[in-house]
Amino acid sequence: MNVVRVENVCKDYRLGEQTVRALDDVSVSIEEGVFLAIAGPSGSGKSTLLHVLAGLTTPTRGRVVVAGADLGTLAPGPRDRWRGRSVGIVPQRLHLVGALRVFDNLRRAQTLAGLPSDDARIRAMLEAVHVGDLAHRYPRELSQGQAQRVAIARAVINRPALVLADEPTANLDDAHAAAALELLRAQAQEAGATLVVASHDARVRPLVPHVYALPAREAATVPS
Ligand code: ADP
Ligand code: MG
Repeated sequence: MNVVRVENVCKDYRLGEQTVRALDDVSVSIEEGVFLAIAGPSGSGKSTLLHVLAGLTTPTRGRVVVAGADLGTLAPGPRDRWRGRSVGIVPQRLHLVGALRVFDNLRRAQTLAGLPSDDARIRAMLEAVHVGDLAHRYPRELSQGQAQRVAIARAVINRPALVLADEPTANLDDAHAAAALELLRAQAQEAGATLVVASHDARVRPLVPHVYALPAREAATVPS
């Protein structure tokens, strides 16, 4: 079973008079339970592809089916609820909510998905990523590594079908980079999720069983 099916997807961004083609006819299928890295140099469209998979960016052309949903057919409201339940996202800049304590950041992920808040599940997730003692801190009171672990817990708390992580090894030394990937892998597996990591980091390739490489997009500008 494929949890992701991307068919002939193009994504153009308008920048004033110019059109930037971020994705050019991308087709990729990802089987359930797989751990896959989207590789490619900076600017090749890795982040754009993750946003497309999460239903955060609408492709200019092509079809995207994720976790049984044909994203092109979902109105914004249903799409947000679908995302909250089916996709866990670890953004490059983590995006923890600064005004909320760690515990409430996880609770928010449950309620935004339309799920009842489950304190026991939140506590178990924070323990699982080794920040059980930080539940009452605010994000600004965390180290970068601690904040990343909270973001990983938030991504898997609703047992999504698909977990997406954008450049999870950025700014980490070798040992911490490997540990971050292993934590993502273990937590995705525990949640029963397929894991897709976007990374330009050469250290990631040998640590991930499957790689989908996007070509360099030097001539990314197309005539409007
Ligand atoms: P990567 O993650 O591989 O570095 P991105 O998906 O971030 O690549 O970007 C792919 C291309 O799309 C780049 O040329 C980038 O400048 C462009 N791009 C990304 N987001 C936007 C945007 N919101 N508006 C205009 N251009 C964008
Ligand atoms: Mg990127």
